[in-house]
Amino acid sequence: MEPALPLPLAPPLLTTAADSAKDWAILHGVAMRTEEQPNSSDAVNFAPFQLLPSPVPRVLFDQAKAVQRDFNLLVHRLSQDSNFLTSCLRSTIQVDDFTCRLFRIYEQVRREGVAQPVCLGLHRSDYMLDDPSRTGQENGEPEAKQPRLDLLQLKQIEINCIASSFGGLGSQMPGLHRHVLRLCGVSRFTADRHLPQNRAMSSLAGGLAAAWELYGEQSAVIVVVVQEENRNAMDQRWLEFAAMDRNPSIRVRRCTLTQIHDRGELRPDKTLLVDGEEVAVAYFRAGYIPTDYPTEQEWTARLKIEQSKAIKCPCISYHLAGTKKVQQELAQPGVLEKFLKDPEAVERVRATFAGQYTLELGAEGDWTVEMVTSDPGRFVMKPQREGGGNNIFGEDIPAALNNMADVKERTAYIVMDRIRPAVVSNYAVRPGREPALTEAVSELGIFGVFIGKGDEVVLNQEGGHLLRTKPSSTEDGGVAAGNALLDSPYLI
Ligand code: ADP
Ligand code: MG
Ligand code: MG
Repeated sequence: MEPALPLPLAPPLLTTAADSAKDWAILHGVAMRTEEQPNSSDAVNFAPFQLLPSPVPRVLFDQAKAVQRDFNLLVHRLSQDSNFLTSCLRSTIQVDDFTCRLFRIYEQVRREGVAQPVCLGLHRSDYMLDDPSRTGQENGEPEAKQPRLDLLQLKQIEINCIASSFGGLGSQMPGLHRHVLRLCGVSRFTADRHLPQNRAMSSLAGGLAAAWELYGEQSAVIVVVVQEENRNAMDQRWLEFAAMDRNPSIRVRRCTLTQIHDRGELRPDKTLLVDGEEVAVAYFRAGYIPTDYPTEQEWTARLKIEQSKAIKCPCISYHLAGTKKVQQELAQPGVLEKFLKDPEAVERVRATFAGQYTLELGAEGDWTVEMVTSDPGRFVMKPQREGGGNNIFGEDIPAALNNMADVKERTAYIVMDRIRPAVVSNYAVRPGREPALTEAVSELGIFGVFIGKGDEVVLNQEGGHLLRTKPSSTEDGGVAAGNALLDSPYLI
């Protein structure tokens, strides 16, 4: 796709724009703690970003926004269906200990009776723009230089239902790119026409504040459950401070699961106290990877939170609803119709699905293995993990399957069609490095804000966007994982 400006930029302009953009980023909080000091704000730098906004066809951007409320509702409805969740995850939890432990908490809380019917969802549905002209590449066919824009398709990579990040930093990116385009001589009028506003931060903070208000106790606090190591604290801070701005009575605390274990108390009436303060909302920015639970104490803390009447974001059933296995099952024929009554909503959601295939034991899973082995370049194999760096791509899949000690292990994964996103040139700006012109691919995230109470929908919003762009040579994404860079869409 054509970049926002003709490239390369002349060297003096490139240096001027990159230096100015770094300072703009720092002054406007596009910031991250450093690798050396991930737990201290004594050393903070700008978060890696793309110097220019990356082109995104407007129709696909609008399509992604338009389907978000359907996804929010879908997650809520399926999370209420324990038969569906149980049958989806039955074989996965036999081999995946982490998902199994989450599932046991889900079962225990259901058995004991859910103390808080209100669920807060701050989701992010991620997409790539599939370029059909790139599919032949694995077979050595030449890459088409300019993809036909009208052939690009919006395809979902995944939906995140826990710790959906970068709403805070991402919201500043249109401002940063306006600044850079201006330095490069683009008129304000043109910039405004191409760079959509991003209200991710205020939407997400609005969800947190609305949940706090629904809880109905002025003295209660919002607890952000954070990881021990936390380079991305600034992104969370944006949301914390914006939630506090919404309502002068809101106070926010930050605790790790270990601290909640040590300093938390579940009262017989299911009130959760941390350091003696009642918790209205527990917002998880941790708890989604095994290393967040180094000992039994952290599992005890998670259980305690789930048993409490604090409003969870997400509750354990939303967390499970966001697993890759559930997403694979949703892509099977006839499944969406169980949860979405509106046929147009079903159509909108299904149009974004790529093929996804089971690896359960049995004929269907065997067929998947055969299909993948015969043409691995077309697929990605994904475990039930979050945060990037866990997938197995293309030619590595057959070896991974062969190296499993027991064939049962394959059921920890699902297989998905590999999306071939359109490539665009842009300058990667990273701390300590010269701006580098790189071939890159983008992943568009749309946030969703949802509050449900049993069958009742209290709030259902599309909540702004995030664009992350990574060098086309890397397979896995993730800004926090060090691969992707913050970006914003240049609508064309
Ligand atoms: P996680 O929950 O770890 O973020 P994802 O499903 O988002 O898991 O996968 C991580 C990264 O792997 C994505 O950001 C994307 O770069 C790449 N990826 C995932 N699925 C696909 C796919 N079907 N086709 C191409 N790339 C993919
Ligand atoms: Mg994810
Ligand atoms: Mg992802």
